[in-house]
Amino acid sequence: MKIKMTRYLMMMALIILLCSWGDKGHQKINGSAPQFFPARLNNFKDWSAKLSEHGSDADKRKKDDRAEGVKHFIDIDAYKDFVEMHKITENKDTAFSQYGKKFVMKNGTLPWVTDSTYHALVQQFKSKEWTNAVLTAADLGHYVGDGHMPLHLTLNYDGKLTDQTGIHSRYESKMINKYVDEITVKRSHIRKIKDVNRYVFDYIYSNYQYKDSLLNADKFAFEKANHEYSDVYYLTLWNRTEGFTKKLIADSSKSLAELIRQAWLEAGSPRLPRNITFPETANKASVKE
Ligand SMILES: [Zn+2]
Repeated sequence: MKIKMTRYLMMMALIILLCSWGDKGHQKINGSAPQFFPARLNNFKDWSAKLSEHGSDADKRKKDDRAEGVKHFIDIDAYKDFVEMHKITENKDTAFSQYGKKFVMKNGTLPWVTDSTYHALVQQFKSKEWTNAVLTAADLGHYVGDGHMPLHLTLNYDGKLTDQTGIHSRYESKMINKYVDEITVKRSHIRKIKDVNRYVFDYIYSNYQYKDSLLNADKFAFEKANHEYSDVYYLTLWNRTEGFTKKLIADSSKSLAELIRQAWLEAGSPRLPRNITFPETANKASVKE
């Protein structure tokens, strides 16, 4: 019993510590999204600072809300279907009955919580709850960012299975914090989304491929830095991962813009007010799954 409890507490501590792109990465993803909006959504551009400021509220909730942790990842390679067909059952209820609820919950619910957060945003747009909508959009950006972080998509999320323990925070926090200013997100054309759940799964399948490149870069950098996590290690890790890291951050930002725009369209394109009251405190309420 004692061992079980200790193991549980250690697991919880790890879940709390693993914070995807780190504060700075999430700020960049959320804050850059409004630039993708077309002229009709100009008033959304005022949201940029608040989306960025609340980009890590979802991670902060993990401390008080036991149900929050599983929402930030999906160990997609735990699914035999994914290993064999690069695809899993995407409907949550069907997934529960096919794979077992316990299995699904244990391996993380990130795609489905992204979908429910999107739907919460649609409802808030419909009822013109602008203040809540800003917070929900910030959470949505957080979950989208997590879905673009390859180590949030695998059983080997902290390199333990390949003897690379600690890679999660070396990459997402220490490296990103050092080089975040070199990442610029450029505006491009955004598209409508036909099926949000599908869209989320598609980027998860696609972003998973970078997991191996990242783990290989870590091995290479560790060798090059004579087995020390020194400046040489971080510079080498950055050089080896820069291309896809910049792409993943920019893709996250663009996806967030596409999802917010789609939620607004689905809500019947309500008129966006200027001068809304922006929330000062962190979002403590998570969406119901
Ligand atoms: Zn997270």
